[in-house]
Amino acid sequence: MFISFEGIDGSGKSTQARRLAETLRQSGRQVVLTREPGGSPGAEEIRRLLVEGGNERWSPETELLLFTAARRDHVERVIEPAMARGDWVITDRFADSSRVYQGAARASLRDLVEALHDLTIRLEPDLTFVIDLDPAISLGRGRARGGIEDRFEGMGLTFQQRLRDGFLALASEAPERIRVIDGSGSEDEVAARVLAALP
Ligand code: C5P
Repeated sequence: MFISFEGIDGSGKSTQARRLAETLRQSGRQVVLTREPGGSPGAEEIRRLLVEGGNERWSPETELLLFTAARRDHVERVIEPAMARGDWVITDRFADSSRVYQGAARASLRDLVEALHDLTIRLEPDLTFVIDLDPAISLGRGRARGGIEDRFEGMGLTFQQRLRDGFLALASEAPERIRVIDGSGSEDEVAARVLAALP
């Protein structure tokens, strides 16, 4: 089983990915918890290239190529081997982040995102949880968390609203795969909603 968590910055998706992994491990499953951008040594190196060096370092197209290269390495080195062993894989972000960030919110490269995905990734999660939250709440959480990556996250409420709309639109494109989870309330409340939405 391959599960991804998606959502805007500060939505709580990383916490919920970790909590689901812990719950599944307690029930005796082998679980690989991973993340993007990154998740494999090579992809973590590419992550550094993406997050360092300021907003103007890469064109949107080059940025998409780097995210895709990182994803390819992550799939080859971590996700596919884990699935071949029969482990469950839970990833904090996957291709839907490119569809929304590079495809709709930061640039309008959706066709290129899909073309690169079809050529080089060819893998979709069995199930995707979009942790949905009002950006006014998530931005507050992001600030409280500290140490966020300014390269990507200093873009304000309007940008976060665009991202949220993008994730919700994507969920209605693929309702059989994507479950939208209300991300408001306590960590425990959201974790219970995630568990209730597991098939
Ligand atoms: O989820 P995490 O905070 O680790 O992601 C790092 C940053 O990379 C995020 O702030 C997100 O805005 C950005 N990102 C992106 N395009 C992707 C995936 C992540 O711009 N495809």
